[in-house]
Amino acid sequence: MEFEIPVAAPPIEVELDRQRHLKLTWDDGTVSTFALETLRGECPCAQCRGLRTQGKLAYSTETAPQPLAAIHAELVGNWGITIHWNDGHDTGIHAWSVLKIHAA
Ligand SMILES: [Zn+2]
Repeated sequence: MEFEIPVAAPPIEVELDRQRHLKLTWDDGTVSTFALETLRGECPCAQCRGLRTQGKLAYSTETAPQPLAAIHAELVGNWGITIHWNDGHDTGIHAWSVLKIHAA
């Protein structure tokens, strides 16, 4: 299986507010803010994609610790970021290209 990941220039600034959001400043000067719930709910890993395919939520406020928080984040090469969540999940890599598209 091959993955085609569109390439996008990484943000020039990455700011993680562990309780609230991920804020990215792009090389064109635009700033995008993503709520943590949105990022967790749209986690691109195989497990979460599978849940969404079945019409289930990748992140449920009923079973996960509240409030949702990011424990830490790691840059993945030049193309994305992984967030370690307080519900123990850490397998999704959010590609810059995808975040940029969602921000547009
Ligand atoms: Zn996931």
